[in-house]
Amino acid sequence: MVKKNYHIETELVLSKSDDQHNASVPPLYQSATFKQPSLHNMGDYDYTRSGNPTRTFLQNQICRIMKANHAFAVTSGMGCLDVITRLLSPGDEVIAGDDLYGGTHRLLTYLHNKGDIKLFHHDTTNTELIKSKISKSTRMIFLESPTNPLMKVCDVKSITKHAKEVNPDIIVVFDNTMMSPILMTPLDLGVDIQYESGTKYLNGHHDIMAGIIATRDTKLAEKIYFVINSTGCGLSPFDSWLLCRGLKTLSVRIEKQQQNCYKIAEFLNNVGFKVRFTGLKNHPQYQLHNSMCKGAGAVLSFETGNIKISEKIVESTEIFGIAVSFGCVNSLISMPCLMSHASIDAKTREEREFPEDLIRLCIGIENCDDLIDDLTKALLKSGAVKLNSKDELFNAVALQSKL
Ligand SMILES: *Cc1c(COP(=O)(O)O)cnc(C)c1O
Repeated sequence: MVKKNYHIETELVLSKSDDQHNASVPPLYQSATFKQPSLHNMGDYDYTRSGNPTRTFLQNQICRIMKANHAFAVTSGMGCLDVITRLLSPGDEVIAGDDLYGGTHRLLTYLHNKGDIKLFHHDTTNTELIKSKISKSTRMIFLESPTNPLMKVCDVKSITKHAKEVNPDIIVVFDNTMMSPILMTPLDLGVDIQYESGTKYLNGHHDIMAGIIATRDTKLAEKIYFVINSTGCGLSPFDSWLLCRGLKTLSVRIEKQQQNCYKIAEFLNNVGFKVRFTGLKNHPQYQLHNSMCKGAGAVLSFETGNIKISEKIVESTEIFGIAVSFGCVNSLISMPCLMSHASIDAKTREEREFPEDLIRLCIGIENCDDLIDDLTKALLKSGAVKLNSKDELFNAVALQSKL
């Protein structure tokens, strides 16, 4: 393993390739097969499903930035979850948060309904509750923090520590897509496996799908590699190469996106909307979040109090594109109930107090004044806000419901 003595910003751009020609950029090995040096000497690589030098370069770099001993690049974030759940045996008990990513919810529910696993959802923000639910028969725990778009935070360290006390073999899995390695190092908090959608911040340009699985545990790593090699979900050489390129700007992208997001959160909060963002002091778990992470990231959500008005806002912005996903250099706007979270049925959403009028903003690297102008125009057009006699914006919907 490479010594980890540089900061993450440096590691991201440091090219530690052992290329024969000293290419500054890792070469793209767009080859499915590799010739053996001789009949009995297999060489380092034989077949790209099993291994490819471009993918290896990416994985080594990921190891350094995630402080892992082993990292694997696969075809999507959901591909990571598929690999990880294959470590389970029939009937294993799994505890998962009750506000996980929609796709995670869908796959875990599918496995549960088929009888492959026994799935229990709990509110992970309630540390005592979740601790009381962990038992000797728990096999795996899935955590996400902050969740998206409700921004629920869980105490990763306490939950993980407790799980290990109950049974050291419980595997704690953490989805770090929302924070990225720039803002959070879940392996330092004791989790066994962390995974991330590379489609989001890691790549940052919405031109590939990818997923990363990282661990410090060699035995788990062997099992994970076995599944990847067996199923063929390793990331392709070209996508690995693109992800290497995307990673170089990860720290500057997140810095700028996050800076913009703090300003927009303040703006919406000042106008009088209920904003969910872990960077605002009024977030119920502001301190817990900031004890685990270096920042709040670049995704926020807010409620308008009226579904029709929310729809109007989303359709009135010009700079913000209406799209699912986040982590890209350009800003996006969405209504999770109609888009990313439509895979969670309406009844379950209601049980989890998921506001149907919720708007999610994923902030990019644009000029922040332009973004705020764009939002202001959309808010005015929708009737969500109005101007008072001093030309100040005020929340018209909130005022109406108070009357
Ligand atoms: C997008 C996302 C995933 C899934 O990743 P894909 O690359 O889209 O498969 C998993 N978890 C979270 C939190 C995500 O936002």
